[in-house]
Amino acid sequence: MKANILIVEDEPAIQELIKLNLELSGYSTEQAYSAEQARTHINTRKPDLVLLDWMLPGSSGISLAKWLRSSERTNDLPIIMLTAKTSEENAVEGLEAGADDYISKPFSPKELIARIKAVLRRRAPQLTQDEIVKGSIRLNPTTHHVFVEQQSISLGPIEFRLLHFLMVNPERVFSRSQLLDNVWGDHVFVEERTVDVHIRRLRKALELNNAHTHIQTVRGAGYKFTARIND
Ligand code: CA
Repeated sequence: MKANILIVEDEPAIQELIKLNLELSGYSTEQAYSAEQARTHINTRKPDLVLLDWMLPGSSGISLAKWLRSSERTNDLPIIMLTAKTSEENAVEGLEAGADDYISKPFSPKELIARIKAVLRRRAPQLTQDEIVKGSIRLNPTTHHVFVEQQSISLGPIEFRLLHFLMVNPERVFSRSQLLDNVWGDHVFVEERTVDVHIRRLRKALELNNAHTHIQTVRGAGYKFTARIND
């Protein structure tokens, strides 16, 4: 899945430069020129990461970062602050407001992309294209191939994303609504039992060599991926 990045920056030249570089690196982008516009965007569609300029007309980037951290829907949204302020004190203020990282202006596009990759790898590993191997399963997001041992497994697009998300967060239990948010996308109105349907399909596809036991039901809580297989 292409990561969607919201660029919040009031200077059109910088906006365009960032947008161009992100798109060249395979990201999809949305643009906001003020904190207010950014809120409207985020309320409609939650991006995967926010690049947030500190100095904005009206309310500042810092206040937007605090707002994002205060809401349950957005408190885990990765944020990178862009700042012309270089003093250490300001960097600390940015990080305390909830930013995952900050970049001082002027910055090179190369550095920007590297920072974005690092933050996504840490905060939203399901959006990176890294091949992942856990237990007997190998999943490649670039080619969309899944293997159990050496056998190729065919999965539908939702089962693929579901498996990917669970594999990059092993041993963590996710409720049905958390899975809906992370796999189907937030603001998607799907019944929670839909998750069960797709988990069933996923397990069926993985039945080879008991690989389906990687996907575990945690009664009353949801589902998790475990790297240890039950015999
Ligand atoms: Ca600015």
